[in-house]
Amino acid sequence: MPSYTAPLRDMRFVMFEVLDAEQELKAIPRFADVDRETIDAVLEEAARFASQIAFPLNSVGDIEGCKIDADGAVTTPPGFKEAYRQFVEGGWPSLSCDPDYGGQGLPVLINNRVYEMFNSASQAWLMYSGLSHSAYECLHASGSEQLKRLYLPKLISGQWTGTMCLTEAQCGTDLGMLKTRAEPRGDDSFALTGSKIFISSGEHDVSENIIHLVLARLPDAPAGTRGISLFLVPKFIPDANGEAGERNAIKAGSIEHKMGIHGNATCVMNLDGARGWMVGEPNKGLAAMFVMMNSARLGVGMQGLGLSEVALQNAVAYARDRVQGRSATGVKQPDKPADSIMVHPDVRRMLLTCKAYTEGARAITTWTALLTDREKDHPDPKVRAEAEEMVAFLTPIVKAFITDNAFETTNLALQVFGGHGFIREWGMEQYVRDARINMIYEGTNGIQALDLLGRKVLHDEGAKLRQFGQLVSEFISAQSGRAQMQEFTVPLAELGAQVSQLSTELALKARANPDEIGAASVPYLRVVGHLVYAWLWARMARVALDRLDSGDDFYKSKLATARFYFSRLLPETVYQLQVARAGAGPVMDLEAELF
Ligand SMILES: Cc1cc2nc3c(=O)[nH]c(=O)nc-3n(C[C@H](O)[C@H](O)[C@H](O)COP(=O)(O)OP(=O)(O)OC[C@H]3O[C@@H](n4cnc5c(N)ncnc54)[C@H](O)[C@@H]3O)c2cc1C
Repeated sequence: MPSYTAPLRDMRFVMFEVLDAEQELKAIPRFADVDRETIDAVLEEAARFASQIAFPLNSVGDIEGCKIDADGAVTTPPGFKEAYRQFVEGGWPSLSCDPDYGGQGLPVLINNRVYEMFNSASQAWLMYSGLSHSAYECLHASGSEQLKRLYLPKLISGQWTGTMCLTEAQCGTDLGMLKTRAEPRGDDSFALTGSKIFISSGEHDVSENIIHLVLARLPDAPAGTRGISLFLVPKFIPDANGEAGERNAIKAGSIEHKMGIHGNATCVMNLDGARGWMVGEPNKGLAAMFVMMNSARLGVGMQGLGLSEVALQNAVAYARDRVQGRSATGVKQPDKPADSIMVHPDVRRMLLTCKAYTEGARAITTWTALLTDREKDHPDPKVRAEAEEMVAFLTPIVKAFITDNAFETTNLALQVFGGHGFIREWGMEQYVRDARINMIYEGTNGIQALDLLGRKVLHDEGAKLRQFGQLVSEFISAQSGRAQMQEFTVPLAELGAQVSQLSTELALKARANPDEIGAASVPYLRVVGHLVYAWLWARMARVALDRLDSGDDFYKSKLATARFYFSRLLPETVYQLQVARAGAGPVMDLEAELF
């Protein structure tokens, strides 16, 4: 059986020693009182909840899965409902929500770290509330005041949960083809008819009501994505007192049998004239839904990080314990029949890859959370606008780079166990299976790469990329007098120059042939993801170098991991740069029928 201990030391390192989170938050009046002690107290309590209450559910959820009855009622695995009750009682869903609607008004930074722990503990369980937070964000941004007053307090408290209903059988990536219809009922509501598939937490027994955010078309809607509107469709329609009342005509038709996250119900949801209320303006539903999608994309990055951390921890523990063979440089544990597998360079390669990707992911998600706090609450509109641009730039990287790396990390962590990794009771194969979905939903990672290169970089002629490049340049200049930092700053500067050159080349090529974007986008995302990680790893290395003599071995470990990252993982960019430059020809020349 695997185990989990929240990595509080590393979280504190990234927040307080690298990103100066306390000072960052002090610049935002709303968070002036949020000091390190407050953050520590919340995280310690979350760590306890994650390891003691949520973590034991993970393998139960995988083995038992969800069940559906003939009426479409879904039962979650044993323990899920009770843990959710405790989650609500503990106030966890409301941490960073708006106090005007009952939230605690704490920084996104805290919420983000808490969600890392809960994801490590059990991704499938957390998903029952994970999308509620994204639904809260969407409704908060685009809902009428009446809808907000009715629904936000219950979504925030966790009494009700939320879903996002986009996908239909004929449309996943291409939402322009969706068919679900919404007919005006003559009052303030609409009747929705259609069928949605793959809806996470679409039906379950953990909360008393489920609030579906559904994309549908009005009768006179233009074709394609310009004709999509967004509706709020409650499972139970609130009565005059705002409590769950009449059952609405939205029901689960079936649940999917799938590769991973068995504890989360993935439902076909049938709408048969279900009553819904419009969120935002007619035919502008996709723009409103993008708030939810962006929040969910950042959330999926956190899922990747959560799984990476727990897989890494278990692989390290196993490698320390397992004895096989002797060290090539002489016996290390003469009292044992063999040395621990930690002595073997290849095992260390696997563990350090997991560690460098996991800690890099923690750094990027912590930084993105701080930027989100700036974007939402900083008093200076210019700072807010800059933070918004940077979060937009980072979102596809957080979603795709972390989850691609997380799949590799969980896979390598399994490999460290040898044959035992393949056996269910060790729990490692579940992490690999669970990690796979994170590369697919919320827009596949291929779509994230197109978003990065097409929309975030080329569409604004590189403005966001230059904004990030400015941060890299400032950091490199600040280190100019420090010889010890050159092993990090020289490759960082070289990669920065390569990324700007590649971006210019691709912009020119794309003018002649739009397929150049799709041909280059995935390697491009790998290269830019590494650029962001290299900058963060260089910053972490600088702090570690400064504190190396403190006597705390944590800094030794951090510096060694930074060196591993720069010498063993960053060189992937040499290959990816070459692939990104290979052009559209090699992928497009072969006629479809000749495959
Ligand atoms: C377990 C699970 C949970 C899910 N939860 C939800 C949920 O809660 N709500 C919801 O609405 N949906 C949900 N989904 C659906 C998920 O978001 C979609 O499966 C995903 O967006 C891809 O859509 P698709 O499966 O139709 O694939 P398709 O869109 O058919 O794509 C197939 C392949 O073609 C590629 N492709 C498609 N179009 C392009 C393009 N323009 N350029 C380049 N490549 C392209 C894709 O990257 C992919 O590799 C879930 C899915 C699963 C499996």
